[in-house]
Amino acid sequence: MASKRDYYEVLGVSKQATSDDIKKAYRKLAKKYHPDMNPGDKEAEAKFKEVNEAYEVLSDDQKRSAYDRYGHSAFDGTGGAGFSGFDGFGFGGLDDLFESFMGGFGRRSGRNRRNEPIRGKDLHYALEISFEEAAFGVTKEIPVSRLQTCNTCSGTGAKPGTSEETCKRCQGTGQIRYSQATPFGQFVNVKTCDACRGEGKIITHPCESCNGKGRISKNQRISLNIPAGISEGQTIPLSGEGDSGLRGGPAGDLYITIHIKPHEIFTREGYDVICDVPISFTQAALGAEIEIPTIDGIMKYRIPEGTQTSTVFKIKGKGIKRFRSESRGDQYVRVHVEVPVKLSQKQKELLRQFAEISGDEGLVQKKSFFEKVKDLFKEQR
Ligand SMILES: [Zn+2]
Ligand SMILES: [Zn+2]
Repeated sequence: MASKRDYYEVLGVSKQATSDDIKKAYRKLAKKYHPDMNPGDKEAEAKFKEVNEAYEVLSDDQKRSAYDRYGHSAFDGTGGAGFSGFDGFGFGGLDDLFESFMGGFGRRSGRNRRNEPIRGKDLHYALEISFEEAAFGVTKEIPVSRLQTCNTCSGTGAKPGTSEETCKRCQGTGQIRYSQATPFGQFVNVKTCDACRGEGKIITHPCESCNGKGRISKNQRISLNIPAGISEGQTIPLSGEGDSGLRGGPAGDLYITIHIKPHEIFTREGYDVICDVPISFTQAALGAEIEIPTIDGIMKYRIPEGTQTSTVFKIKGKGIKRFRSESRGDQYVRVHVEVPVKLSQKQKELLRQFAEISGDEGLVQKKSFFEKVKDLFKEQR
């Protein structure tokens, strides 16, 4: 690229040209040298490339000022102004400009996609499991409806013993070329062949099992191992378990998102289990061995005398097994002191006696609270 022409010269504008001048000059030249206006003309193609390269630099203020200062050497070592991968059609940031005067021609439609293998679609399912299943892991059979390669035609879509034929409309290219008048003149446009939908081939005797589609929707059951410690909202990916591909393309993936049903007595925070346990006020006062539910079953637990309501006890290692680890979270037991209702005469009598002999003795919180109250209202007395 030693003999590279000056970009201003390429576009036929002066160094003082405004961005509007540059755009105008570019449009004129791009139209003139466009490959579709000059089919098979190598020189026009080279010119078209040159014009685009010049425009890419001069239409960008930063690139333009670098070019003004250093000339072509400003872009040496960067693959010629970063202008690699030019394919004669839709490229980089110029797509929009092309679209504006070419009705979208040349963008992507220039690619021939016929007979390309297509990857199957990814599928997403949600699965609800119980609290215990999430804690300990479980194997589940889940129903999945997915597209599977048709066994009758092995995915070709053609009836066994027949084969697909080249589309007569497009001669197998999958595209139809047609002229279109635009304010800039006559353009040859390309559209996907509607006879074969761009495939280039037509199945004249479609497979009866799949109606020529090559795939059949099937309801299947998939066995899924859910590991212990899985969390709400976590997704398990199953590679290749989505829809089958087309024309030999790979299958998509299957994603199962786990939802955990709330438990009647346990709640979960990360890998810890939280549980509220009611105790009687005599148990609280005297201390007692109480039964505590854990995810492993019922266990005995000794609460000390003088236990206050809402006290939380931590039971180490009784929580949920951590995901892909052997360790477990903890269980937190919060006790609630329950005041008895519907007392018998005898019970009431005993409690009155209890109140008489004890007063506020031993009620640390009550004492300090009412001392504060006294202080607060001292002046008003
Ligand atoms: Zn079939
Ligand atoms: Zn066709």
